[in-house]
Amino acid sequence: MTGGAANNQEHARARMRRIPPGTEIVIASHNAGKVAEVRELLQPFGVRLVSAADLGLPEPAETEDSFVGNALLKARAAAQASGRIALSDDSGLEVRALGGQPGVYTADWAGQPRDWMAAMGKVEAALHAAGATDRTARFVCVLALVWPDGGEAAFRGEMAGALVWPPRGDKGFGFDPVFVPHGAHATVAEMPPAEKHRISHRADAFAKLVEACFAV
Ligand code: IMP
Repeated sequence: MTGGAANNQEHARARMRRIPPGTEIVIASHNAGKVAEVRELLQPFGVRLVSAADLGLPEPAETEDSFVGNALLKARAAAQASGRIALSDDSGLEVRALGGQPGVYTADWAGQPRDWMAAMGKVEAALHAAGATDRTARFVCVLALVWPDGGEAAFRGEMAGALVWPPRGDKGFGFDPVFVPHGAHATVAEMPPAEKHRISHRADAFAKLVEACFAV
């Protein structure tokens, strides 16, 4: 286990608490794809969800250099601004032959306004420039929960796989069209959402969150 993963679990253990049905939770994200996935994942637990965008909350700059740092930063900002429990997601793609890039800067590689086809092209170009044939990559997701009284928890998930070009599929979001999970033939963007929710980095982190905060 990496130091980061150990710290995340430590963090979670120290501060975890139960969230009863009916609780209102702010999803601290302005990414519609992520908000939709978090909504589907939380659906069985009877909580009431509102997004940061719905509340008109500002989007804080992601100034940390780790997934857990940025996830906590976003959830703290939303919890403080809304007075509600906030759930954030910080995630990205780590490409082994690029030393883990784009990593926490994955969204930045898509520029502003976000252009995911361009971002996928940049990763392909960086692999060519590096003369790399290894296409191994992984998605990482850290989900952070922050309570208005300052309680905090963070949960890390991963999905291992390989990158393929050209992009395939029209489901999901971000880098899904170029990512084939280990053991699969389809890209994530070619999979039904239920299949992605079974194996994704977000689902992996989510299972840990559910264990800590929702399981009876
Ligand atoms: P951030 O967490 O808002 O900084 O953005 C992370 C970026 O990583 C997203 O905008 C996507 O490009 C990428 N990403 C994270 N999770 C996924 C996923 O499930 N599928 C595809 N791309 C993802």
